[in-house]
Amino acid sequence: MKIDIDGLFVKQFEKSAHFKKVFQDLETVKKRVIDFGGFDYVLQFNPGRIGSATADTAKKVTEDECFLCEKHRFPNQIAVEYNENYNILINPFPIFKKHLTIVDKRHVVQEIRGEEKIMVEMSGNLPGFTVFYNSRHSGASAPFHRHFQACETVELPVFRQWDFFLSGGKISEQNGSCLVFDGTRYFYMINHSEASKAVECLAGVLEKLQSVHKTETPEANVGIAFDNSVYRIVVFPRSKHRPREYFATGEGHFTISPGFADMAGIIPCAVESDFYKLTKDNITSIFNQVTLEEKYLKELSF
Ligand SMILES: [Zn+2]
Repeated sequence: MKIDIDGLFVKQFEKSAHFKKVFQDLETVKKRVIDFGGFDYVLQFNPGRIGSATADTAKKVTEDECFLCEKHRFPNQIAVEYNENYNILINPFPIFKKHLTIVDKRHVVQEIRGEEKIMVEMSGNLPGFTVFYNSRHSGASAPFHRHFQACETVELPVFRQWDFFLSGGKISEQNGSCLVFDGTRYFYMINHSEASKAVECLAGVLEKLQSVHKTETPEANVGIAFDNSVYRIVVFPRSKHRPREYFATGEGHFTISPGFADMAGIIPCAVESDFYKLTKDNITSIFNQVTLEEKYLKELSF
């Protein structure tokens, strides 16, 4: 299947000045690299993300007011058909140069279980892109409507620094995953050239997270990249939606509500002072709180 993403961007820019402007603005966005030695986080000053960072995810949203449902989408947003169940749209508040939202055509709750295969297939149909997922309490600003997102893999530090991370972990003989801790966050890395193995391994990790945490759905951020005939999957288990810094007032406050982008090393700062203020210690504190809790480490290892 060939999906013409560049063609979609051309059409969308022709149809809407908003889309053209926000993606043009991204080209000159302010960035700061925070180097951790071997890997890094990239801060991005991006005021357009304020709605997403501060979204009230507990709010019940019906089809009539849902911005992912067809009748209530962003003005002039074009949708292309991916398959019978999914449409591909361009994200109106982008973090990435080619930021897509892949939405279920039905207004169904955010859920990855049962869709592992389709997610792996999507990444296979979008080589060069990472298809990613934020669970209901882990960064999804629309937990009421199933969706994935995608961006170019080259933009994601965690994939750029893949070999560095892999060298610091141990690959499980049981399922081929590798659990890594880099001082800030824990994550599973999965490498498979066979799609069915990638699906099986991803489903196994998600199943384990759900059963150990006893949550309604596995709370995690998941990204899948397909390049050179290999599927690379990263799963960030989550213990918390937002860190204490999000709720703090005064100097200690940061409007940071981590989703997949943040976990993968791109931190969009909607508030300018956060962009200048964030230090290595703040980042370590924020990610330590939202990542896997050490008390579960033994149970969550393969
Ligand atoms: Zn909806």
